[in-house]
Amino acid sequence: MAHDVVVVGGGPGGYAVAFRAAARGLDVALIESAKVGGTCLHRGCIPSKAILHVAEVMDEVNRAATLGLDLTFNGLNGEALDRFRGDVVSQMHRGLEALVKQRCSALHEGRGRLVSAGVVEVTASDGSVSQVEGRNVVLATGSVPRSLPGIDIDGEVVLTSDQALWFLEAPQRAVIVGAGAIGMEFASMWHPFGAEVTVVEALDRALPLEDVDSSKAVQRAFKKKGIEVLTSAMVDKVAVGQTASGAEATVEVSLDGGSRSIEADVVLVAIGRAPNTADTGAAELGILDDRGFAVTDEYGRTSVDGVWAVGDVLPTLALAHAAFSEGFVVADVIAGERIQPVDYDLVPRVTYCHPEVASVGLTEEAARERFGDEVETTTYNLRANARAMIAGVDGHVKLVTRRGGETLGVHIVGPHATDLIAEATMATYWEALPAEVAAITHAHPTLYEAIGEAFLAASGTPFHGH
Ligand code: FAD
Repeated sequence: MAHDVVVVGGGPGGYAVAFRAAARGLDVALIESAKVGGTCLHRGCIPSKAILHVAEVMDEVNRAATLGLDLTFNGLNGEALDRFRGDVVSQMHRGLEALVKQRCSALHEGRGRLVSAGVVEVTASDGSVSQVEGRNVVLATGSVPRSLPGIDIDGEVVLTSDQALWFLEAPQRAVIVGAGAIGMEFASMWHPFGAEVTVVEALDRALPLEDVDSSKAVQRAFKKKGIEVLTSAMVDKVAVGQTASGAEATVEVSLDGGSRSIEADVVLVAIGRAPNTADTGAAELGILDDRGFAVTDEYGRTSVDGVWAVGDVLPTLALAHAAFSEGFVVADVIAGERIQPVDYDLVPRVTYCHPEVASVGLTEEAARERFGDEVETTTYNLRANARAMIAGVDGHVKLVTRRGGETLGVHIVGPHATDLIAEATMATYWEALPAEVAAITHAHPTLYEAIGEAFLAASGTPFHGH
């Protein structure tokens, strides 16, 4: 019997479709080839944030003397770290599995392949093949790490995030290729443990999707810590050889007007992710573009009736919460609910490097392209915020507003920026006027009062800001 919805892939995009469709009273089957939770739970968001937490504690240990603590660090216990990281992932996984069992009428373990509009062939790990039918089929097979031509990922010295996340000790010398969110997060994971880290970025700044002032602030902070970020720099070659102390890589980098050769124990290739759509039947259905991304309208509909796509298979923001929102939209449209498509300008962007970077809405550059001279900016420096000072982290809150009008974007660099973006997201979502946010009482002393201060300044009544 055909299900109302068959979802291929149980990552954030796939399970968001499944849970929302079930909540709307639809009958849902989920097909997953590995473990529900996908990249996010097993190789992405969650294990990386567990290690970043450990690195943040290590950052505090490194400044213990300043805090009046006489501590001695005796080393990283890889086994205990592995247990901590593994426990977080497995507890979240158990909870998610229970929800899947509760909400889906069937969970098929195996590789799904769309053979026609309403039919998915499932190959289980023992080789047995079955067919699952659905009035709607949703492709949610996610993404895989990309590499550069000429760089061989050997899984030991030259790694992608899939392997690097499960390290038991920090490397001593690391080269990270790519200063996007993943590359910058790994730099922050390894550096507190004494690693010499060089990040190599082809574009002219780190976190190139963020507002230019956020990139500058995070690069300044990295420089102060001793993390080298080479921009406008291309990795030409990575050669792995044996030395007396084991395998090491030599990374040849071309820079503006010169070149560098850097030795490293580990090279992390973090240049982005490619859609995981090969062998899913999507190409045969004609729903992919020439880069392998699924092509859909703003509601996730492909050109084939009853076939939908969500998450990293789309050329949209490759973030778990973007996949959640895309999943909710697809399920609601299938259920016949009225729903707005995802407004990607309003999807918060978060990078958990230290200091954290988060933003929502338009960058100053994008706002000026749309609204020209009507755009105004206000920057509140976190140096005037007591909690940031106690945390020992610099940063800022930058508002992009329309003269006499609404909030267009908010850009935060600093401790807990990824949480502080919550209020900014609401302000941007509701197109709040600066004076409306400024009128809200913000608790003191808090990090989030920096948002209130920025809005106070933007509405012409600066308080503690300079
Ligand atoms: P995935 O999570 O990749 O899930 C796809 C699922 O489909 C997988 O479970 C896979 O096994 C399954 N599958 C694949 N092919 C088949 C098939 N043929 N049949 C059946 N099942 C199949 N995002 C954030 O928002 N915040 C973060 O902090 C963050 N940190 C990250 C850190 C790292 C190191 C990485 C790599 C990513 C991070 N991301 C983060 C991105 C986030 O993980 C992805 O955007 C998100 O997982 C995409 O969800 P998805 O459901 O589209 O795909």
